[in-house]
Amino acid sequence: MPGRTLLIRDIHTLSLMDPAGTVRHGASLYIAGGEIRQVLPSGAALPPARQVVDGRHAVVIPGLVNTHHHLYQTLTRAYGPAADAELFDWLRALYPVWARLDEEAVHAAALAGIAELLLSGCTTTTDHFYVFPRGRSALLDTQIEAARRIGIRFHPTRGSMSVGRSNGGLPPDSVVQTEDRILADSERLIRKYHDPAPGSMLRLALAPCSPFSVSPQLMRDTAALAARHAVRLHTHLAETRDEEAYCLERFGKRPLDLLEDVGWLGPNTWLAHGIFFNRGEIARLGRAGTGIAHCPTSNMRLGSGCAPVLALRRAGCPVGLGVDGSASNDSSHMLAEARQALLMHRLKHGAAAFGIRDALRMATVEGARCLGRDDIGTLEPGKRADIALFDLRNAAYSGAGDPLSALLLCAPTQVHTLIVNGRIVVQDGELRTMSLDRILSDHRRRAASLLGRPVTPSAARP
Ligand SMILES: [Zn+2]
Repeated sequence: MPGRTLLIRDIHTLSLMDPAGTVRHGASLYIAGGEIRQVLPSGAALPPARQVVDGRHAVVIPGLVNTHHHLYQTLTRAYGPAADAELFDWLRALYPVWARLDEEAVHAAALAGIAELLLSGCTTTTDHFYVFPRGRSALLDTQIEAARRIGIRFHPTRGSMSVGRSNGGLPPDSVVQTEDRILADSERLIRKYHDPAPGSMLRLALAPCSPFSVSPQLMRDTAALAARHAVRLHTHLAETRDEEAYCLERFGKRPLDLLEDVGWLGPNTWLAHGIFFNRGEIARLGRAGTGIAHCPTSNMRLGSGCAPVLALRRAGCPVGLGVDGSASNDSSHMLAEARQALLMHRLKHGAAAFGIRDALRMATVEGARCLGRDDIGTLEPGKRADIALFDLRNAAYSGAGDPLSALLLCAPTQVHTLIVNGRIVVQDGELRTMSLDRILSDHRRRAASLLGRPVTPSAARP
C-alpha cells in the first residue's frame, strides 16, 4: 500500500469548484502525498489507501481560504468600550490594550483563532500582524510556530506602523517602529520562513498597515523589498470615508492614487476592504489585476460600508473573503463569512445577481488567487489536498434539498472533517492536532490578563 494515502469514498455531494462548476454525487477522492490524484465516479473500483473517510453523509468542498485577518484580536473580542464605535474610534479605544501584547499572548491568540478557522472549514489563512510594542520583536515568529503546530496552511504578513500620533498618525507612539527596523525585520522574516515552492505551507507577504499609520516612503521601500524577494504586498485600503478624508488632507490624493504613486498597483498586491472606489478606480484595479479581500461582517459591524464586489469582479479583480478580526467581526468563521457575503450582496443587487456559487468561489478559488496560489482552491487532480467535509446529518441541514446551497442558506455549522495538505486535522468535529480545551483555557487566561480583568473560574485550566 502506498505511503501517505487517503480515500474519501462515496461522497454524497462533491463540488470541485473547477471552472466548469462540476458537482458529483457518489464520487470518491483519492489523495496521495498531500495531493489530489483522482476523482473517481460513483461505482468505480477504489484504490487501497492507508486512511479511509466515509463521505456518504458529506457535502465536500475545497478548504476555505481566508484572505484577511488579525489573529491577535481574538484576545479583545467584543471589547466593551469599542462595541459601538466606528473604525477610527474603535482603533483609538483598542491601541492602548494592544500595546501590552507579548509573545505568550500572541501565541495563545494565534492558536485560538486558527482553531476556530479550522473548525469552520478554513484550510489556508493569512494574518496581518502590525502591532509591535517596544522590545517585542518575535511576535510574528510565535504566530508562525503556532500555525505549524496546529496544522494550517499559513500566509502571515509582516505588518508595520511607522507614523505615530506625534507625527499626525493614528496609533500611539509606543506601538510604531522606525522604518529601518521594519525593513530589516521584514527581510529577516522572508529569509527565515518564506517558501515559494508549489504546495508551500508558508508564504510570507509584506503589509504596512494603512495610509494613516505609515509614510509613503515606507510603502515605496516595502514594494522594492517585496519585488527583490518575489513576495506579495498587502494593506488596508479604502475602508472608510475617514481614511479618504485623511488621505486628501494629508497627501492631496485619494487612497488609490496614493497606492499607485508608491508603486503598489499591480497583480502582486491584494487589498483589505476596498469599499470606497469610484468607477474609474474599479477599472484601474481590474486592469492591474489587484486582489481584494472582502470582509462583509467587519464592514457591517463597524458600519463602514458595502464594497462594490460585483463591479470589482466584473472588472477582473480576484475578490476573496476575509473574516477580518477578531475584534471587528468578532468571529473567525469562514463559512459564516461566505454566507454574510451572499446576504449582503443580495440585499444590494437582488438574489439573481449573486449566486451561491459566486460566494463559494470567492471563499475558495478567488481567495487563492488573491494569495497568488494556483495549487489550492479547487479539488481537481494535481491540486493540494485541502478539503472540507460538512455533515448533512447536522440539525441545521435537516430537510435541505440542495446540499451545496444548504451550506450557505442554512445556519453555518462547523466541519465534520478537515484535511490540510492530505492530513486529517479535524475528524468527527474535533481538532486532532492539539487539545482545543487547553488552547481555549490558556487563551481566556491571556485575554483576562491583557485586559487587567480577574481570571474567572471558567478561565482556569480544567
Ligand atoms: Zn483588517
